[in-house]
Amino acid sequence: MANDGPVEHGYPHLETVRAAITALYRRLSYDTVRTFATSVAPADVAFSDVDDLYLGAQRVARELVRHYRLPDARMIVGFREMRHAANIELAAGPEYFVELNDRFRTHRRDIGAALAHEIMHVYLHRLDLSFTGTRENEILTDTATTYLGAGWLLLDAYREDAASSQKLGYLTPEEFGYVLAKRSLVFGEDPSTWFTSAQAYTAYAMGMRRARQDEQQPPLTAAGWAGRRRYARDRRHAQDQVPVAVAGAPYAFTPDVRGPLRVTFPCPTCHQRIRVEVRGRVRARCALCRTVLECDT
Ligand SMILES: [Zn+2]
Ligand SMILES: [Zn+2]
Repeated sequence: MANDGPVEHGYPHLETVRAAITALYRRLSYDTVRTFATSVAPADVAFSDVDDLYLGAQRVARELVRHYRLPDARMIVGFREMRHAANIELAAGPEYFVELNDRFRTHRRDIGAALAHEIMHVYLHRLDLSFTGTRENEILTDTATTYLGAGWLLLDAYREDAASSQKLGYLTPEEFGYVLAKRSLVFGEDPSTWFTSAQAYTAYAMGMRRARQDEQQPPLTAAGWAGRRRYARDRRHAQDQVPVAVAGAPYAFTPDVRGPLRVTFPCPTCHQRIRVEVRGRVRARCALCRTVLECDT
């Protein structure tokens, strides 16, 4: 888990984040994702500076193991001086050694965040779900942690004041906010009251705006006027078989001389591509996440 450097903002990893959400649904199935409807509760991972360091770390680790449903996994948490924030050894188990940076000895309230990320590595390892390359894999880990209900801790560990800044994980604060918002929209959960960090709250609000935009892209009926107008123009070109690059648009038309025109677009929930016939109002259901999509094609 990365530790240092200036805090990056915006959505530089958005494509990988979306691919990670799709991969989670594919690997876990809709039913398993639904079993994570309740997030880790703040009280269950609370850790104050008067708690015993080792007993407290073990208790929080056990709580996360329980949340991820890794019943036979045992985490042995240690502390040492290191460049990174934390590290875990991905062995066969059932014992896993988690190392936390020495600074957590005096920043105990963020131990839950660090453990949430590290223990997710075990979860994904057991699922045999990984992305190629360290950076992609860490983005998958942060996204999975957040989508499955423990990543609000990572976002809450993001704090900035005039003197210092701290952020854990590879996603930007806004990207954590985005994944958390997508989770909130699916499960009808409101994590905003759990934040102790004002910056985390702001990043969540921004991420929510971005997540809402996913639901307002044509051909979805919730799309705005400008998007719909552009969509109608692109469709006209596609119907006339005029080759037109729909640059920057989330949808694509697949003209077919033998059959009806079809449009493909990403599911606003899981980002798997959906394909429907172009024939006015269409109600589609995403086969992967089961979201019902009202479209005007
Ligand atoms: Zn990691
Ligand atoms: Zn979907």
